[in-house]
Amino acid sequence: MRGILPYMVCGAIVTVVGGAFAKSGSHVVTAQMRANALANVDRYEWAADQQQAAIRAAQPYVEMSDEALWRMVPSQWVPRNCGVHNGNGVGCANCGKEILNVREPQMYMRYAYDRAEHPWKLKCKNCGTLFPSNDYGAFHRSGLDDRGEFDPERADKGLLHNPEHPDPNDPDHMLWVDDGYGLAYSGETLTIIAHYTYSLWRECINATRALAHAWTVTGDPIYAHKAGVLLSRFADIYPNIDYQGFVAANGWGISDGGSKKGHDPRSDLGDADGIEALVGLRRGLRADARG
Ligand SMILES: [Zn+2]
Repeated sequence: MRGILPYMVCGAIVTVVGGAFAKSGSHVVTAQMRANALANVDRYEWAADQQQAAIRAAQPYVEMSDEALWRMVPSQWVPRNCGVHNGNGVGCANCGKEILNVREPQMYMRYAYDRAEHPWKLKCKNCGTLFPSNDYGAFHRSGLDDRGEFDPERADKGLLHNPEHPDPNDPDHMLWVDDGYGLAYSGETLTIIAHYTYSLWRECINATRALAHAWTVTGDPIYAHKAGVLLSRFADIYPNIDYQGFVAANGWGISDGGSKKGHDPRSDLGDADGIEALVGLRRGLRADARG
């Protein structure tokens, strides 16, 4: 997988450049608009500030290798759920209802997501406990197929235990363990990993937008290249994405605006912002291919 990855990524970008994106130029964010933006950066402090903000937002993803970006995008069989609790009654598995002391409008907002700092963990904002106890990242890696997509049938179930209690006879051997479908606590199932994955999808999409915006206001093809890596991976993953047969079937929810179809990741790239980002990317990808 590691050996063929650069070919796959480069091949996808060339395909994009020569196929669906084979047009003469951008239409939503035109070359003239981008030239104006760069001229404004030279003339106005506010424009320079906006350019710097765009660069800062994109920087974490520029610093990631192409392979790390490619691997960041989760696939269909990694559970995803907008919420953490099916009900709001039991609270955090460690501090219980004290989590309600955290002033947030929704229960899931009382858990912090930080992929770079705590991969495959959510942190209770009240007691600071990281959930789940098991290393889901190792479990996930053990289940990747030859397309780099997670297959739960392949994954090593032996990794599903609390590492602080390795003895299977220890009553806490499975304490706070989440196999992707939630950890059991006081009669409720807390969908920690599924909410982490939901947040991860949001980050992948927002990262693509941030990179596209940075390209638009700098003209530096590195941003378009990195966004292209993410877009090519989205193209790999989307054919298998199924809201009804997986998210809804598990009784979970994703904000759907009343559509009853869920808020699947693909809809995020179909909205106006996403289209603008894609159109802006086309020219950057061409520059990248030439470079
Ligand atoms: Zn807590």
